[in-house]
Amino acid sequence: MTAAVPALPAKIHPLVRAFLDSPDAVAAAVDRFGSPAHLLFPQVYLDNLAGLRQVLDRHQVRYRICYAHKVNRSRAFLRTAEAAGIGVDVASAQELTAALAAGFGPDRIEVTGPKGIGLLRELIAAGVTINVDNLWELERIAELAGTKTPVLLRISGFAGSAPSRFGITPADAEHALALAAAHRDRIGLCGFAFHIDSGETGERVRAVQECLGLVERAYGYGLEPTVLDIGGGLRQVFTADADRFDGYVAALRAALLGRGEPMSWGNNTFGYQVDDTGVHGIPIFHKYANTVPATRMLDDLLTAALDAHGGRTVAQVAGENLLELWLEPGKSLVDHAGITVARVEFVKTAADGSTLVNLDLSRDSVTPADQEVMVDPLILPGVARPEPNDLAPVGVFFAGRLCLERDMITNHKVWLPYRPRAGDLVVFPNTAAYHQDLSAAMASRHPLPPKLVVTRDDGEFRIRPDRDYEPALVMP
Ligand SMILES: *Cc1c(COP(=O)(O)O)cnc(C)c1O
Repeated sequence: MTAAVPALPAKIHPLVRAFLDSPDAVAAAVDRFGSPAHLLFPQVYLDNLAGLRQVLDRHQVRYRICYAHKVNRSRAFLRTAEAAGIGVDVASAQELTAALAAGFGPDRIEVTGPKGIGLLRELIAAGVTINVDNLWELERIAELAGTKTPVLLRISGFAGSAPSRFGITPADAEHALALAAAHRDRIGLCGFAFHIDSGETGERVRAVQECLGLVERAYGYGLEPTVLDIGGGLRQVFTADADRFDGYVAALRAALLGRGEPMSWGNNTFGYQVDDTGVHGIPIFHKYANTVPATRMLDDLLTAALDAHGGRTVAQVAGENLLELWLEPGKSLVDHAGITVARVEFVKTAADGSTLVNLDLSRDSVTPADQEVMVDPLILPGVARPEPNDLAPVGVFFAGRLCLERDMITNHKVWLPYRPRAGDLVVFPNTAAYHQDLSAAMASRHPLPPKLVVTRDDGEFRIRPDRDYEPALVMP
């Protein structure tokens, strides 16, 4: 090989790596269950959980982890969470049904997000914890609850943060407290949660500080909140090589200015503004550049000093006030716990000379909403290994199977070690968080890819449908 081509190397969990490296394991999975397919790794999920627990234990805080179910529809992940003894955060009547069916009791279920009257009635009847989005919800609970309903107040709109569509403003929080106090037989105020649309620790610390203030104010009403819910938002790490990632992005920016080889399909600029003076703004794919693991983000938050508390840390102040920290991790729990496999249908050349690799997969089954996934897929040879002579890197775009111009799986150029052929398999790394389910539709009547669970037991990999998976005995 000559000079290194631009690349976005994927971080891969050792268990997933071992599976990919075991001869014909991926091919056997799609031969048996069909292509494309989503493969899930509950053992990686447990690894992630253990990492978060370690950080929390080290700071000696009392805590509850509620897995945010909406990150993936998998039943196996729900069963894994249930067996591991954590709670679950659900966002709809259907997710509530799934959580109950997976074995969670109401005392381990929290319901977040805006709710209509039908869902509210259902939640009150079920006795789950309601994370209240607005005053209307709280008024309905005061009206409808037959017995004391556990409630968190979700606060948002902090000074210095962008306005949020979720939650109760700090200005309305006083009214919410008065309401909770007036109806204390029906509203069991457990504590406070917040919503910020940011992963920045500084913003989160400000939100924590604001909620601690509300805890104090609640005491003033004779209420006794014991929960501080810090939500989700702990980030994933997709890249295995930050320097190469930066190198790719630098080459892409140059290409957008017409320098070097073109690297984007059509007129795609990935959210950058391109003009005579250069390439500006933040691209839609910025999250794929993250190198800070969830465990460090959590540690940073727990050790952040609170100005209003004489510089004591979040962990210390929570402990002193006998508060239980609740976390709602979604993507950080399923980070690296899923991959998606598809098959190459054919390879062709477009009018502009670009090489298009057509897959039996749609963009929406592997891409969350309008993102561009900046992680290189891996290519596994099909029937025949490539000849040594064919081993020259080739820049390609992956195209999906829908009859739409926009069904491009990558709008950025991906360099493969050789030109793929029909029948080769392509693996998209780290797809378990939102990539598989957030946008997936059954357009053109293509069924959704099946979900399969991969475990390694006594050194042997086992595969079964997601719905059939039952966790082995897990250490709680
Ligand atoms: C989606 C969601 C989460 C999970 O967020 P991640 O960023 O995936 O960790 C947590 N809490 C609530 C209420 C959510 O809606």
